[in-house]
Amino acid sequence: MTTRMDDKHPGTTRRHLLQAAAAGGLTTGLGSALAQPMIASPGSELLPKGKQRRVVVLGGGWGGLTVARHLREHTPELEVVLLERNPVFWSCPLSNKWLIDVVDTQFLVHSYTAPARRWGYTFVQTEVTEIDRDKRRVHTAQGHLDYDWLVVSAGIRVSYEPWFGNDRRAIAHTTVNYASAYVPSAEHLALKQKIKSFKGGTIVMTLPPPPHRCPPSPYERACLMAAHFQRNKVPAKIIILDPKPRIAPIGAGYRLAFEDLYPDIITHVPNAGVKELDPFNRVIKTAAGDFKFDDAVLMGHHQAAELTWKLGAIGKTADGKPTNWAAVHPQFYNLKDDPRIYVIGDSVGAVSPQFGHYPKSGHVANRMGRSVAKYIAQQAKGEALQPLMIDNLCYMLVNPDPLEAISVQFDYEMGPEGHLVQKQIDDNDRRKHLWEEDLRWYGLMVQDLTGG
Ligand SMILES: Cc1cc2nc3c(=O)[nH]c(=O)nc-3n(C[C@H](O)[C@H](O)[C@H](O)COP(=O)(O)OP(=O)(O)OC[C@H]3O[C@@H](n4cnc5c(N)ncnc54)[C@H](O)[C@@H]3O)c2cc1C
Repeated sequence: MTTRMDDKHPGTTRRHLLQAAAAGGLTTGLGSALAQPMIASPGSELLPKGKQRRVVVLGGGWGGLTVARHLREHTPELEVVLLERNPVFWSCPLSNKWLIDVVDTQFLVHSYTAPARRWGYTFVQTEVTEIDRDKRRVHTAQGHLDYDWLVVSAGIRVSYEPWFGNDRRAIAHTTVNYASAYVPSAEHLALKQKIKSFKGGTIVMTLPPPPHRCPPSPYERACLMAAHFQRNKVPAKIIILDPKPRIAPIGAGYRLAFEDLYPDIITHVPNAGVKELDPFNRVIKTAAGDFKFDDAVLMGHHQAAELTWKLGAIGKTADGKPTNWAAVHPQFYNLKDDPRIYVIGDSVGAVSPQFGHYPKSGHVANRMGRSVAKYIAQQAKGEALQPLMIDNLCYMLVNPDPLEAISVQFDYEMGPEGHLVQKQIDDNDRRKHLWEEDLRWYGLMVQDLTGG
């Protein structure tokens, strides 16, 4: 076990750590038997800084867990603190399969404390509330802490304002009744229950306009819900309202799956961006017609996570409007005006005039996390950053019985014009082998993120 800062630096006392631990479910190499009563408040210091330089990572999802682990491996001389609001790691990848019991809950849920102990970083379960860039300080619900480097991997936020403006009743009604389950939260449980208890009728699924988190996954979800209804003889129709002109990515593979496997259940409607939505009377008006529904999975617009906005990292369009995504270097993922602040994962904005955004996937967040761990190691040693190229790979299960998946791969290189170029390879031929590869991919990823 790697030693913690108090072992190396007596100036940072064990008492401080115990206080912070009791305040926020803090886990360190000291172990988890930390139950000292204490009073914590947003104004107090959560974790005093010792002599070690410190990296604070905001968000313990796919990007954050990766960067925390690899930082400890590359730069054991740095202290690493991971802040996350949730008590356990919940994987969105494979969650569609979990909705209809292809995999069980243990597959998705992993401990935060085990990887923190294994790699010797500090984990604090807390809500991050503000970032003070002038003071290099992060504020949380349990107190503040200072950083030398900051990595923000806070995922996405779902915005319903384009549909409802500031109508909070409509937003609350939608999130309670028609949650999309696109961030790690209790929404997944609600959606699973909805699918299991659905007795029949029309379910509409609105897709967010691009760019959005995991573009192929809504179609996968439609396939697996349809398979569940088919198997259980539930007279259900699923209408996919897609703002895009065609299914993408893996369009041919999905089209064949809809036609061959679920012809009486799934209808895909292209160019169906939502114009008006009445969640109380269950009516949607789209550019492709109006639809009434019995139930729905309403995916609001996706934007960079709230913390990315608080960081002041959101890019601007030519006419000064927010792009809704972080403006970062296309390969280093740091801010132009502060190269020691990194934003990684789904919050990252456009990086290339050829393809716009990297796919918003766990695979990409992991690759960015690994890269940033190396970049910070280089900065810590006073070396120049050496750019690393990333890739993306996604497997989507279209048939649970027999198990058959399709997949998409993205490769990147620096083009002759000095910007990143993307090559997309769709594998539309559904087969069991791709499902087996998906399981292998997920196992390797979980190993990299959590160690088990
Ligand atoms: C249904 C579905 C299927 C998917 N399938 C795949 C797949 O097969 N393959 C693939 O590669 N990707 C897949 N993805 C995409 C993948 O889940 C995301 O791309 C990935 O999680 C992005 O990583 P991230 O670190 O940016 O965000 P996240 O993994 O969402 O992590 C962000 C973390 O930050 C925390 N956080 C945010 N704000 C705060 C705050 N203020 N205080 C404290 N903590 C905070 C959140 O709780 C969260 O844990 C899928 C997504 C969905 C929804």
